[in-house]
Amino acid sequence: MAKLKSCPFCGGKAELFKHRSFGQPDYGSYSVACGTYDCIMSDGGSSYATKHEAIEAWNRRRKENGNELWQ
Ligand SMILES: [Zn+2]
Repeated sequence: MAKLKSCPFCGGKAELFKHRSFGQPDYGSYSVACGTYDCIMSDGGSSYATKHEAIEAWNRRRKENGNELWQ
């Protein structure tokens, strides 16, 4: 599985979250957000059906919005 890259905005540690929907015990969705409380990326944004998709999307967003100074 792809590794989570650091936050493009603050360089903080990114975290993977699992969400559940009420009444649907088998249903889960994943999103990635910055672990820094007041960071612009801490709201998590979109959620995805699989961990892999969530991680890929985070890393892609990082590439689009961040710059490669943060490794
Ligand atoms: Zn951040």
